[in-house]
Amino acid sequence: MFEYQLKKSARRKTVAIKVHNQQVTVYAPSYIAKKQIDSWLLEKKTWVDAQLLKQLTVVDCKQYPFETKKICIYSEQVNVQFEQGHYSGVKPQLAGLLITVSKRVKHQQLKYQKLLEEYLKEQLTAYIEMRLTYFCTQMNEALPRNLNIAIYKRKWGSCNSKRDLTFNLHLIGAPQHIIDYVIVHELAHLRHLNHSKAFWQRVEIFYPDHKSASQWLKINGMSLQWGF
Ligand SMILES: [Zn+2]
Repeated sequence: MFEYQLKKSARRKTVAIKVHNQQVTVYAPSYIAKKQIDSWLLEKKTWVDAQLLKQLTVVDCKQYPFETKKICIYSEQVNVQFEQGHYSGVKPQLAGLLITVSKRVKHQQLKYQKLLEEYLKEQLTAYIEMRLTYFCTQMNEALPRNLNIAIYKRKWGSCNSKRDLTFNLHLIGAPQHIIDYVIVHELAHLRHLNHSKAFWQRVEIFYPDHKSASQWLKINGMSLQWGF
């Protein structure tokens, strides 16, 4: 049998159960004996258990990691708030980002993570696309075949002989001039698929301050990685 709080009232004519916040409350007319209530509740046990289980899932999901967290977008701290609602989506607000996950979604945490990643990916893609166009013109380079965004543990970007460029999603936390360095670095790889002297000379022409940018990434790189 489950625990419950009994609320008797002289005005009540019927017995009722309410399950809220993991609490079971039984409302009963004052003349009914506790024994009677208990045997009635026994019949309702399956229903009450189902309600408790349903609420447990929701309560669990509201806890970690759903308190406000801070992430970095282009070197600025942004508050990310979570709420449950009737739909799923991300809304930029004055105070940061509001992530709404529909109550109907089963894996609340996964959905929350996915929504945040998709939003950041969109932001980073838009920025990189714009800068790729600019630097390709500067470097007299045709646009890459594909632009991908992925989560890497140990590198900021990559480039292959098919002219596919991939950038690390965690770059979204870096200042834009640092992202520019990674773009120039990868574009220079289109002609030199190595880190030869010729490669670095090409980087230097289009991003003269590459040493301090690369140093910045070495020092701050770890702090750009977020976890859930
Ligand atoms: Zn490289």
